[in-house]
Amino acid sequence: MTDQLERLNRLPLRDNLRGLQPYGAPQPHVPVLLNVNGNTHGLPAKVHAAIVAAVGEAAAGLNRYPDREFSQLREALAGYLGHGLGPSNIWAANGSNEVLQQILQAFGGPGRRALSFPPTYSMYPLLASGTDTEYVTSPRAADFTLTAEAAGEAVRRTRANIVFLGSPNNPTGTALGLDVVEAVYEAGAASSAIVIVDEAYAEFARTGTPSALSLLPGRERLIVSRTMSKAFALAGARGGYLAAAPEITDALRLVRLPYHLSAVTQATALAALEHADALLANVEDIKGQRDRIVEELSALGLAPAPSDSNFVFFGGVKDPRVVWQGLLDAGVLIRDVGIPGHLRVTAGTEAETTAFLGRIRELV
Ligand code: PMP
Repeated sequence: MTDQLERLNRLPLRDNLRGLQPYGAPQPHVPVLLNVNGNTHGLPAKVHAAIVAAVGEAAAGLNRYPDREFSQLREALAGYLGHGLGPSNIWAANGSNEVLQQILQAFGGPGRRALSFPPTYSMYPLLASGTDTEYVTSPRAADFTLTAEAAGEAVRRTRANIVFLGSPNNPTGTALGLDVVEAVYEAGAASSAIVIVDEAYAEFARTGTPSALSLLPGRERLIVSRTMSKAFALAGARGGYLAAAPEITDALRLVRLPYHLSAVTQATALAALEHADALLANVEDIKGQRDRIVEELSALGLAPAPSDSNFVFFGGVKDPRVVWQGLLDAGVLIRDVGIPGHLRVTAGTEAETTAFLGRIRELV
């Protein structure tokens, strides 16, 4: 045991946090960073300029607390999402991680159970521990897909109070059919389950892949969570949000810290939303690189999963550790998510994607 761990264990830490590792992909200085699914394209110059101007203006009022209700931002997010949503349907926080945490603070906790379907986003169990919510899982099929039948059955069996559905799922990259969301929602009626569809990567979905936003009307236990970290290239600004029934946003007001969204964050997010078109043009470019990765990896005899996201999960890798290291030696960092025979790579700029493909061709 390291000294540091020993010192930590001497503290009166909560039992359910003992032995846990903090979330954290490495943040090394490597020329081609394709390991954390952020947006590899920088902000377009005019979006950057608009953010600088908006933040400058916000700075003049930093002696005052920000708008606690972030009304303008909720209005803008509702407009962006469409689907007949209004500001009362929208909630936002510092990244969708905080949105998810607030949902667990309001609807999870001791005696409550959250369910998910691994492999999935590694923060779900950590958010559950942090809120003393029991975390249970139910497996996917061997090809990592999830059927409506299997998902509904798992919800009934576990009597989950909260269900996380990653769609598109991280690390596998594929979106769920709406039939899965509907089945989970119906199965969750018996335990009044809050169903969270985590659509962090929704803007990268292939044409024809529907969003669960269309299912919101009439489903007061359904939440669709989104983020500005991926499509909007704002991971550094920390802005996530959700769409749900107004009573859900009222519930989250009970647990949020007052003024949790800084004036700087609100100004940044608003300026970016005003330039959604320019940012979504970059999304199209990233989707092109993503499709190129899927095609070229298939041609190399590897097995990429269908991707609705800005990353590709691929199988058929004989020794993932060797391939991962070989790429790193050439300055390309991707993610070994710990699933035998598989690796995950984020779609980069054209040059970054070329560097990745060139090197992996030599390695497999
Ligand atoms: N959900 C999923 C599935 C993710 O992959 C991520 C980011 N890795 C998030 C939520 C959280 O992103 P953020 O807090 O930056 O919005």
